[in-house]
Amino acid sequence: MTHDYTQIREEVAKLCQQFPGDYWRAKDKLRAYPTEFVDALGNAGYLAALIPEDYGGAGLPISAAAAILEEVQKQGCNGGACHAQMYIMGTLLRHGSEAQKASYLPRIASGELRLQAFGVTEPSSGTDTLSLKTTAKRNGDHYIVNGQKIWTSRAEHSDLMLLLARTTPREHVSKRTDGLSVFLVDMKAAVGNGLTIRPIETMMNHSTTEVFFDQLAVPAANLIGEEGQGFKYILSGMNAERLLIAAECIGDAKWFIEKASAYAKERVLFNRPIGQNQGVQFPIARAYAQMRAAELMVSEGLRKYEAGEPVGEEANMAKMLAAEASWAAGEACIQTHGGFGFAAEYDIERKFRETRLYQVAPISTNMILSFIAEHVLGLPRSY
Ligand SMILES: Cc1cc2nc3c(=O)[nH]c(=O)nc-3n(C[C@H](O)[C@H](O)[C@H](O)COP(=O)(O)OP(=O)(O)OC[C@H]3O[C@@H](n4cnc5c(N)ncnc54)[C@H](O)[C@@H]3O)c2cc1C
Repeated sequence: MTHDYTQIREEVAKLCQQFPGDYWRAKDKLRAYPTEFVDALGNAGYLAALIPEDYGGAGLPISAAAAILEEVQKQGCNGGACHAQMYIMGTLLRHGSEAQKASYLPRIASGELRLQAFGVTEPSSGTDTLSLKTTAKRNGDHYIVNGQKIWTSRAEHSDLMLLLARTTPREHVSKRTDGLSVFLVDMKAAVGNGLTIRPIETMMNHSTTEVFFDQLAVPAANLIGEEGQGFKYILSGMNAERLLIAAECIGDAKWFIEKASAYAKERVLFNRPIGQNQGVQFPIARAYAQMRAAELMVSEGLRKYEAGEPVGEEANMAKMLAAEASWAAGEACIQTHGGFGFAAEYDIERKFRETRLYQVAPISTNMILSFIAEHVLGLPRSY
């Protein structure tokens, strides 16, 4: 990290200790949203870390947000319940009008409004974002939205959604990236008036949903930036998203490694701790080395981001390497625990399910490799 943020980490750790494993296990069992945890983080100001002080936030740099999210995961909690607020908000901050920022940011900073839902992915377009089919058609001082999003996480627990929709048909735009626009949707007003949310049951507790738009009227005042330029705005936030998710994976990896090392020292079989066997030590040591290497890439990405330098390469590599490191650490941790790794009360199987997501979302590993091949190595575009 560019700074250690020792004090922030200690305070976040203290807060997280109020939400131990049995809290998360109970939520996991019921597939319930960890409202108390999210409220505690919000009330302590952590979810407003990146909002400028003028708008009531802490005005901290992205490396502070990364430290907060890493610590949350390292303590065994799950930032997936609220991490989106950290990176979605950047679109509003960078591209919103002064009036929009003045209206929303202070209320987001105070916790009055939750900006947790991000509507990009659709069932038929997936990773191919430019093929999305949800439309927003201007009608007087409103846009009328029709279509569907999928994997819209936290939609039931958010007051606002950042929505990407097509405002100009694909065949009418001269540049392939034009024609999409970003809106801030007031979810509470929309539900039942053109917006329907349906939860999707997944292998981990992620409060994800599919949302349906049927003639939903969104005030034109809620268009962010210029009509037709939304794809660029979303892309500009993706490096921040990748770096923050990578920091979470580093936190997960540290949790698994600590848990595995402690158990390997204390579990005695054949009259010696299992951790004395190289077959047990090596996977943990390897995962540690992978985690440290990924952590360096996260640091470098954060440094470049804060210096205003191009950071696509590092943000993508950090996300991929950190997600692979957390998976390797999870694998080592389960294997070290033998049968107990599968028992819910150890929390390992829960964290194992949770951390697996980050090789698929918010961008899957193949797309990162394609990015490196094309944009870093100059290889032909493969798709
Ligand atoms: C729990 C969960 C929460 C999510 N939360 C959100 C959210 O809040 N908001 C949101 O908008 N989205 C969200 N997503 C969506 C997520 O970003 C997508 O799942 C992800 O981008 C992959 O898209 P897809 O699932 O449609 O896979 P697809 O795009 O169908 O891809 C399937 C597979 O094919 C591979 N593939 C596709 N094209 C190529 C290619 N050209 N070259 C090589 N490989 C290729 C992919 O890498 C992947 O492995 C979430 C997903 C999950 C599972």
